[in-house]
Amino acid sequence: HADLAMFEAKSHGKGRYEVFVPSMSTRATERLDLERDLRRAVERDEFEVHYQPIIDLRTGEIVAFEALARWRHPERGLLAAADFIRLAEETGLIRPIGRLVLEEACRRAKEWGEGRADGTPSMSVNLSASQFARQPDMIPEVLTGTGLDPRRLQLEITERTVMHNAEFALGKLRRLKGLGVSFAIDDYGKGYSCLYYLKRMPVDSLKIDRAFITGLGENPDDTAIVSATIGLGHVLGLQVVAEGVESAEQLAELRKLGCDLAQGYHFAEPLSGEAAERLLAGDTTW
Ligand code: C2E
Ligand code: MG
Ligand code: MG
Repeated sequence: HADLAMFEAKSHGKGRYEVFVPSMSTRATERLDLERDLRRAVERDEFEVHYQPIIDLRTGEIVAFEALARWRHPERGLLAAADFIRLAEETGLIRPIGRLVLEEACRRAKEWGEGRADGTPSMSVNLSASQFARQPDMIPEVLTGTGLDPRRLQLEITERTVMHNAEFALGKLRRLKGLGVSFAIDDYGKGYSCLYYLKRMPVDSLKIDRAFITGLGENPDDTAIVSATIGLGHVLGLQVVAEGVESAEQLAELRKLGCDLAQGYHFAEPLSGEAAERLLAGDTTW
């Protein structure tokens, strides 16, 4: 029990104490169970990739998809990335899972782009810090293996990934950019939002975190933040993407503010590969 309390204290930073409460051991057991299941899931290949369309706000058409990891858990059903990615990162299991997602996503993007002259859809894939640092050759390998044009792959990284070791990250980013891959800063506004690095980093897009989109049009502070972020992105020559758009009002506001791209439940939830393909083949526009 003392041990669990110590871990709890450490997880909140140094120089503090925690008193043991029974919920700590429940949580520890749950975590152990989940970790065991997750290891097994990698062996048994229980992961899938779902795809959420990204819409060009000028034309209302789908121009890209974001690949999101899903776990088909034998007892708990389909789990979203939010339920297991953190543990996967902490245990290093993100590396096999992430590779699988990248391979599957590139394969789909290649397939879906066939017969389309405009170079769409492109594919956005999330990359965790440890993948970025420890699997440097994975991206060129997967690109070669699937034959996807690197210009159609965008990698999403968070500010945390970059800020953690900025000089190192900058070097890696530049090398990958040399292949033709593009980069987006994910969850922008939620992390450090360091303008110094934003200026120096070879990124192409900014994805405004859902937290600011929620209050759009209703909360003047959120509207001001979104408007300023779009302005900032544009003066730096970046494409601005709004995440988590859930209503027609938010969409109208984003169009008014000149945002470039958007994704969210208002357009579509993340879909299975087959459903995403059908949506792309149809003529839905927003
Ligand atoms: P993210 O990259 O910011 O992805 C967006 C998340 O918001 C997804 O959750 C998506 O399902 C959800 N979302 C999309 N539209 C809406 C909306 O309108 N409203 C609300 N409330 N939510 C919406 P998901 O799939 O659970 O992913 C959570 C996070 O896990 C992702 O955040 C990303 O950081 C990470 N992740 C997902 N797949 C992968 C992966 O293959 N590799 C790595 N390294 N990370 C991943
Ligand atoms: Mg993302
Ligand atoms: Mg995000």
